[in-house]
Amino acid sequence: MRKTWTSVVVGSVLWACMGAWAADVPHWSYAGEDGPAEWARLTPENATCAGRNQSPINLVGFIHAQLKPIHFAYQAGGTEILNNGHTVQVNYAPGSSITLDGTVFELKQFHFHAPSENQIRGKSYALEGHLVHADKDGNLAVVAVMFREGAANKALAKIWPLMPTEAGAKMALPQAFAAAGLLPANRAYYRFSGSLTTPPCSEGVRWLVMKAPVSASAEQIEAFTHVMHHPNNRPVQAVNGRTVLE
Ligand SMILES: [Zn+2]
Repeated sequence: MRKTWTSVVVGSVLWACMGAWAADVPHWSYAGEDGPAEWARLTPENATCAGRNQSPINLVGFIHAQLKPIHFAYQAGGTEILNNGHTVQVNYAPGSSITLDGTVFELKQFHFHAPSENQIRGKSYALEGHLVHADKDGNLAVVAVMFREGAANKALAKIWPLMPTEAGAKMALPQAFAAAGLLPANRAYYRFSGSLTTPPCSEGVRWLVMKAPVSASAEQIEAFTHVMHHPNNRPVQAVNGRTVLE
């Protein structure tokens, strides 16, 4: 059966959520024989990992575009936290969204990478959060938040102690978590077109990178890297003909 683009992308989100449990999902990793340089060759479904509009990137050469504010309509909806071996992720209940280009994108989940995947003017951050949204047709919009080392992060403090240490484990959150607490007060952002940063690297993802970083303590950053056992950032990819708007 021929897959539609929508089913591929929606499948990708599920894949990102459930990779550790799905027996038919090919293995990939962040280093070595099945590391990022090999992803495109691991399976035909991953061919897009060698595409021309890949994420992450080093954000430079900004084009002034007077971007309209992103309208955030988030509720406390984080319901469970899981470790899928590639990241630590919080799944979100329906009812929270952003509006972008007049389209509503619902928040599905958020997860983390350490060190950051995207770079801003060549600068890497200790941690990067990805808030993954989908519209009704399965188009994706990711809000990225950079964390620099500094004061402890109050929002992370609510979920970090519940982070499952074993790949494949998940835990219900005792209280619905409010993802708005992860966002910087200043919501100015950079925008570019990119991809999922994990196989199958599907393109057409709207990337919205918050300009202002938030902070996390050295202990909070260490807690995440300790649970992951290894860096979980894909290297920056070629920008090719793309522009980064601000
Ligand atoms: Zn991510």
